[in-house]
Amino acid sequence: MIHNTKHSLLIGWLYPELMSTYGDRGNIITLQKRCEWRGIDVEIKRLDLGFEISDLKACDMLFMGGAQDRQQTIVAKDLLEKKKALEEMIEDGTPGLYICGAYQFLGNYYKEADGTIIPGLDIFDLYTENPGENVERLIGNIVVSLDDNILRAKQSEVEKFSTSSNNNLVGFENHGGRTYVGEKVTAFGAVSKGFGNNGGDKTEGAIYKNSFGSYMHGPILPKNPHFADHLIKLALEKKYHEKMELKELNDDLEYKANKYIIQKLKVSI
Ligand code: GLN
Repeated sequence: MIHNTKHSLLIGWLYPELMSTYGDRGNIITLQKRCEWRGIDVEIKRLDLGFEISDLKACDMLFMGGAQDRQQTIVAKDLLEKKKALEEMIEDGTPGLYICGAYQFLGNYYKEADGTIIPGLDIFDLYTENPGENVERLIGNIVVSLDDNILRAKQSEVEKFSTSSNNNLVGFENHGGRTYVGEKVTAFGAVSKGFGNNGGDKTEGAIYKNSFGSYMHGPILPKNPHFADHLIKLALEKKYHEKMELKELNDDLEYKANKYIIQKLKVSI
């Protein structure tokens, strides 16, 4: 059914003070505006250090941005205290977007540049290792294909939002950590240009149920409205237990920005 203005969404923003290093707050703004433009009543719940589990559990969708190793060390202790609640939400299909440092936390562990091991939440089948300060960081614009056969078997999660005209994602990456995904997650996409998870296996990000991990800052959502709307749709369908179609928006500007990066990186699509 076409959603109508009686619908509402509560979006939980995890650690906004410490984990929004590379413009990731733009993703929150995008989700908020794309709901408001459709008359969906949307509220952003800031979940900073020490937040209550009940505040987390009340959310219909979650977002967490990236950070440098130092902030990750500070957040890790608090986040691990919330492991059970967050794991239950992810396993129950609460939609979420976890960027870079946040993505790394979802795996088994993150080995920082100085060798410190931060235990992960062990929800996603992956691990991340930073080879050290004197090894190049993976930095630059990135284009990811959503329909390359490099994706793992469970490509259906990706097909739900990639269409023939919008079968890519563009973003900007800046990470030292190299992430290696296991069999229990689907790669988010295949790197057409850039580094992705580790600069080697051509995978970028990971999908597990309705949770998406990615290295794409930028922020990722403004230039990829097909993916932003997919997250909103997932959240509405889970909350209201019915299929939803979102009202079309004029995304000419958004796709102009998307295609600009593709042309700038000379990627043929
Ligand atoms: N500190 C982590 C790394 O260097 C994550 C960086 C980020 O969130 N952009 O890999």
